[in-house]
Amino acid sequence: MNSSETLQEVAKQVAVCEMCGLHFTRKLAVPGEGPANAELMFIGEGPGFYENEQGRPFVGQAGKLLDDLLAAIHLKRADVFITNVVKCRPPGNRDPLPDELGACSDYLDRQIEAIQPRIIVTLGRFSMAKFLPNARISDVHGQAAWVKGRLVVPMYHPAAALHQPSLKPALEKDFTRLPEYIQQANNAQQAARMPEKKNEPEKPPEKSNDEPTQLSLF
Ligand code: URA
Ligand code: SF4
Repeated sequence: MNSSETLQEVAKQVAVCEMCGLHFTRKLAVPGEGPANAELMFIGEGPGFYENEQGRPFVGQAGKLLDDLLAAIHLKRADVFITNVVKCRPPGNRDPLPDELGACSDYLDRQIEAIQPRIIVTLGRFSMAKFLPNARISDVHGQAAWVKGRLVVPMYHPAAALHQPSLKPALEKDFTRLPEYIQQANNAQQAARMPEKKNEPEKPPEKSNDEPTQLSLF
């Protein structure tokens, strides 16, 4: 199966999934969307009211802000893959529960595996916690870290920046660093493809699924 077939299969399974209690109250599940070869993957928390109505991620106010933040770095929504840690709306937009996050994580893992994004941007603390379980978002937002061979950049959730306007400048600033991180990740990828040289310094980390979090902040 190629990557877009895998994504389609995940979306089909998500649409009818009953693996956690969120399926009782959802209208439409929101698998996520974007190109199968996206370099950038954004992972939010879970569908809200409008996402649940439309079956698409980030289509409400937070989505509008996300579009603006992307436009500021000359990217469009269609250039990136956007999804969430839970694919069905938590009632009243409450936080997702641990058993819901656990039940849903396999879908996200399969999406990441299929897309192989250069950079994962986590929006908010629930998606950050998947990759950087001990980090505090106020300490690490905007700082890229290597996690399992991939650059992860934690950011504030756009909805948080809407509720708490003091966070918005930080979110905007963190977005402006993304082009630089994409370049870094591309360089690391190219270096990894070069023939082995003796004593070569600064090899990028190998992709592996074992121990997490080699922190290397730029
Ligand atoms: N907030 C999220 O975390 N995800 C969405 O899809 C929309 C709003
Ligand atoms: Fe299935 Fe995830 Fe929806 Fe729960 S949130 S029903 S695990 S798709």
